[in-house]
Amino acid sequence: MGLTDIRDRVAKAEAEAGRDPGSVQLIAVSKVQPLERVEAVLEQGHRLFGENKVQEARGKWPDFMERYEGVSVHLIGPLQTNKARQAMELFSAIHSLDRPKLANTLARLAQEMGACPDLFIQVNTGEEEQKAGILPADADAFIAECRGLDLPIKGLMCIPPVEETPSLHFALLGKIAERNGLEGLSMGMSSDFEEAIALGATHVRVGSAIFGERDYG
Ligand SMILES: *Cc1c(COP(=O)(O)O)cnc(C)c1O
Repeated sequence: MGLTDIRDRVAKAEAEAGRDPGSVQLIAVSKVQPLERVEAVLEQGHRLFGENKVQEARGKWPDFMERYEGVSVHLIGPLQTNKARQAMELFSAIHSLDRPKLANTLARLAQEMGACPDLFIQVNTGEEEQKAGILPADADAFIAECRGLDLPIKGLMCIPPVEETPSLHFALLGKIAERNGLEGLSMGMSSDFEEAIALGATHVRVGSAIFGERDYG
């Protein structure tokens, strides 16, 4: 547990998969964590973080970004269109592009602002009713639609169903990315990031294994 341990495990998983050192980006998911835990990880030199809520991120990151050089924060949770502008101002990547309406809003704002964060399309690989994301069968058409809007689509993201073997979902995501010529694969969390790296993850999103358990109380 802890940043150093997770960094070592990422490096080991890269090596075992025959991948270049540093080819996987470790996103430290800091949602809900006490500020002093986040600060401790910043003090250890880590600079890439993930948050799942726009408001929460706006409450802590502008200050940290002023105090620490080179910080990037990625949005990994659902995005409402009315918060899209705020999200584009704060985050360097958005991993939750999951519907045409959001794609249209991001495209319009990107035109207006002259910039756009890197985008990952979220795919609902488990076809779960309660989960966000494009269905696998609709993914190719949605990727094409986003490209038609000139959006900077960097890759795909998934959150496998909790009760299923994650590797099957990672493999499916990788297949969809490959046939669409996408390099980025945002997949793998505290419990399964090594499997994700073995299956090509370029971005792993690790929270509790770095910071400790989240206390939602
Ligand atoms: C919270 C969260 C994570 C990190 O989960 P851990 O199990 O704490 O590593 C990763 N991805 C998403 C989308 C999350 O919301």
